[in-house]
Amino acid sequence: MSIPAFSRAQAISAVYDQSGNTNAVYYVNASGHIQQLYMDTSWHVGWDFTSGLGAPTPAPHSSIAAVYDPIGNTNDLYYVNSSGHIQQLWMYTGWTVGWDATNNLGYMKHGDIFCCDELRRAVSDEDTPLLFVPKFREFGIRILDGGSSYLRLQFCPWSGAKLPESLRDQWFDTIETLGLDPSSDKVPPEFSDERWYTKRPT
Ligand SMILES: [Zn+2]
Repeated sequence: MSIPAFSRAQAISAVYDQSGNTNAVYYVNASGHIQQLYMDTSWHVGWDFTSGLGAPTPAPHSSIAAVYDPIGNTNDLYYVNSSGHIQQLWMYTGWTVGWDATNNLGYMKHGDIFCCDELRRAVSDEDTPLLFVPKFREFGIRILDGGSSYLRLQFCPWSGAKLPESLRDQWFDTIETLGLDPSSDKVPPEFSDERWYTKRPT
């Protein structure tokens, strides 16, 4: 096989994938894209993630980290994208462009966490039983019994994108570290929405 030329030899990562019983290596190719090689019984040229998947290009100084996640049975790839944000790509049955971690975890309003317009529209439509709970950063399907409970969604029903991790446990932990009991005490107003986790570090 003809191996795409290396661009930055320092940006390289390798991982064993237990689910597929394969080894993979990732590096930046001469086009400045993240390139995959993988081995089952022999080595193959795999993805060019920018040409093949539309993944954001890595920043010139980016390194690459690859990991197999045995809990979710996914392969995850992380690098710094050309916006200077940590970018995730992940693979369950096929590769998906995941979250831009800076947008996802931090410094923007929750309007930017929607993976597609369909999800954004469904959540903002009162007549559709889909909701976004900013304070826990959770998406869910309403249970139509007149109460406020919902079934949490892990993946977008339209695009299949992995939705952001819930911050429910961190919400309770953070309030407890303030010496407050969330079930009886009044909590500061920034804990009623996304403000408590979207504040920029000062
Ligand atoms: Zn979506």
